[in-house]
Order: sequence, then C-alpha cells, then structure tokens
Amino acid sequence: VTERTSAADCIFCKIVNGELGTAFVAESEHAVAFRDLNPQAPTHVLVVPRRHIPALRAVSPKDASIVVNLLALTTEVARREGLLDGGGYRVITNDGAAAGQTVFHLHFHVLGGRSLAAMG
Ligand code: AMP
Repeated sequence: VTERTSAADCIFCKIVNGELGTAFVAESEHAVAFRDLNPQAPTHVLVVPRRHIPALRAVSPKDASIVVNLLALTTEVARREGLLDGGGYRVITNDGAAAGQTVFHLHFHVLGGRSLAAMG
C-alpha cells in the first residue's frame, strides 16, 4: 500500500461498500465503524468516512459536515462500548507512513477498555 492508494484499490473503500462483508459496529450518514483486524486494546474500533479521503492532512473546509459526522460516530462507538462512563478512551489518527499510517483512507482508532497508561 502506498500513499497514492486511490479509491479504486482502497481496502477501506471496499469495507465501506460492503465488498468484504465486514460487520459494522455503528454507522452514520458519512461514516462507518468496524473492529480493527489486529486489536491493540479490548475495544479497538476504526471509524472511517464513506468518502475516500487519504489522511487527515487532506481534509478541507468543504469536508466540515463529513468530519463532524465522523467524530460524532467515534463518540457513539464509545457509548456503545461502554466507555463514556468511567473508563475513558483514546481517539487517534496516524498521518503519513512515518507516523505508522498503513491504510491511506482517513480513519480514527477508538481505543479503550483497559488502563490508558497501559496502552502506550
Ligand atoms: P494505521 O496503521 O493507522 O493506518 O491503521 C490501519 C489499521 O487498519 C491497522 O490497525 C490494521 O490492523 C487495520 N486493518 C487493516 N486491514 C483491515 C481490515 N480488513 N479490517 C479491519 N481492520 C483492518
């Protein structure tokens, strides 16, 4: 996977379109949420826009409604996973290969379910 991944060969676009049969934890007008294949915490859910946006750096003001809807879905995931009361959780995005981005379709990791201090 390179930073030039286009919508046509993007794995998260295929997930959004239902081509891989991935179960959604939650979905909204502009975003879907599904469990990470390689979870790093008891709750590890990815929240991605339905539209192919390569990374956070590609977001522009015209995407405002998408991004607000996407962030609201991270909160909805946390609520459904029981993380809003007491536990706390992290919402993380990696931007660029040097930061660990491996899938070049914008996504926020929602991580929770154990001590944040233990999550590194
Ligand atoms: P990042 O390294 O921030 O780009 O995160 C990409 C994440 O996508 C990793 O945590 C992978 O485990 C996860 N991932 C890759 N392919 C899939 C898939 N088909 N279904 C669910 N998660 C995936």
